[in-house]
Amino acid sequence: MTSLPKDDQRASVSSQTDIISADDRIQLIGLTRSEMEDLFVSWGEKPFRARQIWSWLHAKLVDDVDAMTDIAKLFRARLKTLCAPFTLTESAHLISKDGTQKWLMALDDGQEIETVFIPDEERGTLCVSSQVGCTLNCPFCYTGAQGFARNLTTAEIVAQVRQARATLHKQQKRITNLVLMGMGEPLYNYDNVIRAIKIFNDDAGLAFGLRKITLSTAGVVPRMLQAGRAVGVNLAVSLHSVNDRVRDQLVPINRKYNLAALQKAAKAYPLRGKKRITWEYVMLDGVNDSLADAKAFAQWMRGIPSKVNLIPFNPWPGTPYTPSDRAQIERFQEVLRHAGYVTVIRDSRGDDIEAACGQLKGALRNVRPRKIAQNC
Ligand code: SAH
Repeated sequence: MTSLPKDDQRASVSSQTDIISADDRIQLIGLTRSEMEDLFVSWGEKPFRARQIWSWLHAKLVDDVDAMTDIAKLFRARLKTLCAPFTLTESAHLISKDGTQKWLMALDDGQEIETVFIPDEERGTLCVSSQVGCTLNCPFCYTGAQGFARNLTTAEIVAQVRQARATLHKQQKRITNLVLMGMGEPLYNYDNVIRAIKIFNDDAGLAFGLRKITLSTAGVVPRMLQAGRAVGVNLAVSLHSVNDRVRDQLVPINRKYNLAALQKAAKAYPLRGKKRITWEYVMLDGVNDSLADAKAFAQWMRGIPSKVNLIPFNPWPGTPYTPSDRAQIERFQEVLRHAGYVTVIRDSRGDDIEAACGQLKGALRNVRPRKIAQNC
């Protein structure tokens, strides 16, 4: 092994701060396999070391370097000195009466994020956060009301999946699908999210097929196509209205990228096989839930391979909105079905542990919460 000074060893990973922890250690689980290979080669190791370590970290989900029994002692010592711990601190793990599970994960700087597991008959979906808080200010969303602290590093995104998978494995449960639909706007943390998806997808590790991964965006139009080309995962878009005036209020990013731009980006998105874009639509009483809204919605989707998730609104303390009646949601669904679109009403899951859509908030530090508008 060559002996580079420690600083050079670290610098050889990347100069990006999101791969190096605040305490100057390498976030090994945030590297793709080829980045890990480059790192080890720069340390004078053989490239196959990366395959070994990769398997310990992402297939066997081992957190303790000393459990990596086929790795030489000296190399293990180097990993321990130079690398940050592979896990986040689980400050809480809650299990709902409907089987939904939520983890509150504490980050090194005292911020907190949430990760949610939603089991149903044949699937187990893990909802992963990409930011601490969110910048988007959608007025019906609790995460948005908390303000924004920072982007997650790649390692912090990956750690959520490694840890949830390890815990669920002990309960004989399996994550089959990943959705980047937790706290934050994934396309505003583009580099880390794309790198994390590459790590999720690596078949020598966590091995999630790209068809099993869905990225949800409020509509960061220029990044949509770019992400589609880079990783080609399923795309969900938080639509909530097909009227620019209403969407400007509900999803303020619409003022920057309006519905026409969104429609164009959706048409250009490279879908895999028979996959469709999922339009998410939160049902807000008297705001976007009329049958005329449903007809306009069906019209708007024409020409785009589409399916629809109608999300019953989950109220939170201080929200100015009320949920639509169930009967109205069903009538709305009927209009879309009649127009030929697969339309499901998403069950609200885990609301007894505040794990439902829009209820995730974590505990943000040093952030001024958004003022809640009372008139929208
Ligand atoms: N920023 C991304 C991902 C996070 S939001 C996006 O906007 O898609 C995940 C989903 O939950 C979005 O569709 C969002 O609009 C929805 N949501 C937010 N608050 C909600 C609430 N209170 N009730 C129901 N759905 C909500």
